[in-house]
Amino acid sequence: MPVFLFPVPEDRGLARAHLPGFTCWVASSALDQALAGELDALAGMALAKSCDTMQGLTDLWRRNVPSIPLFHFGMPIRLDGPAAREYLLAELRSLRERVEAQVGWAISDDDLRESIALYNRTRARVRDLYGRASQFDPRELYALVRTVFQQPKEAFEEAGSRMQAPSPSLSRSFALSLFLVGPSLGDPVLFDVIAGAGARVGGDLFDLGERYFAIDAAEEGDALEALADRLLALVPTPTKYRSQRSRADFLLSLVRERGACGVVFARQKFCDPHGFDYAQMVRALDGAGVPHLLVELEQASQAGQLRTRVEAFVEMLHA
Ligand code: SF4
Repeated sequence: MPVFLFPVPEDRGLARAHLPGFTCWVASSALDQALAGELDALAGMALAKSCDTMQGLTDLWRRNVPSIPLFHFGMPIRLDGPAAREYLLAELRSLRERVEAQVGWAISDDDLRESIALYNRTRARVRDLYGRASQFDPRELYALVRTVFQQPKEAFEEAGSRMQAPSPSLSRSFALSLFLVGPSLGDPVLFDVIAGAGARVGGDLFDLGERYFAIDAAEEGDALEALADRLLALVPTPTKYRSQRSRADFLLSLVRERGACGVVFARQKFCDPHGFDYAQMVRALDGAGVPHLLVELEQASQAGQLRTRVEAFVEMLHA
């Protein structure tokens, strides 16, 4: 069962001996959790080729966390180049073989197709929730999305069916909807702050967020080809390039579709890929007259400053 790792607020300082101080908290926290023994239940750790920080973490992991085997996965940088699909398929075949060797049994095409069908069902449910995102308290919505990334899909199905839209009286106090952009779901404090400011979230362009649920894999045909085609078709993260699918165009279309009043860039401190992406995105938002705010996330200790900035942004949007 894949479990996505998220940064946690606690810092035991164990990663500091291995990483420079200008490393993002996403990577630092993963290594800190591993060195503290909190990930010992994992059968393995998969790291995809994304940014330079993740590449560095790959080498550090092999050397410093030998008890948790590492599966490095090489995603192509350019997603629409002629060799991208071939390369990705070779990486998927290699990953399958390495996981088979680790677990000691063969992963059949039928296994993969069964898993694809389960994940497609889950993705359809999450898409439905995101389509109505602004009806929900952002804290509840993102707690549920986290469940999808970290627990068996059955747990999400149960939790998702219990999720109710708020009563009309509560709706009035949450009139304004924001769109979020950033690397991962971010610190839960962000959603506390947004709810506390009287706003909701209309959707997101987190690397690990709504975009992950946007496209299904084909349930017929070759399973690895279906997985590769899905990965290549997703809206690219800032570490990838796809000429026909601009992140800025995608963001603008979703902001309009969901009626979001503004965009909050929730960037991890020291994250270069999202720093470069930000420069392009704000040009598009400025051109379209969409207000935006940049906040930098590090750890939960930043909550006070975060609250002040988000509240001021929401007040400005109300004015
Ligand atoms: S993309 Fe940014 S936040 Fe994610 S691991 Fe790389 S540097 Fe860190």
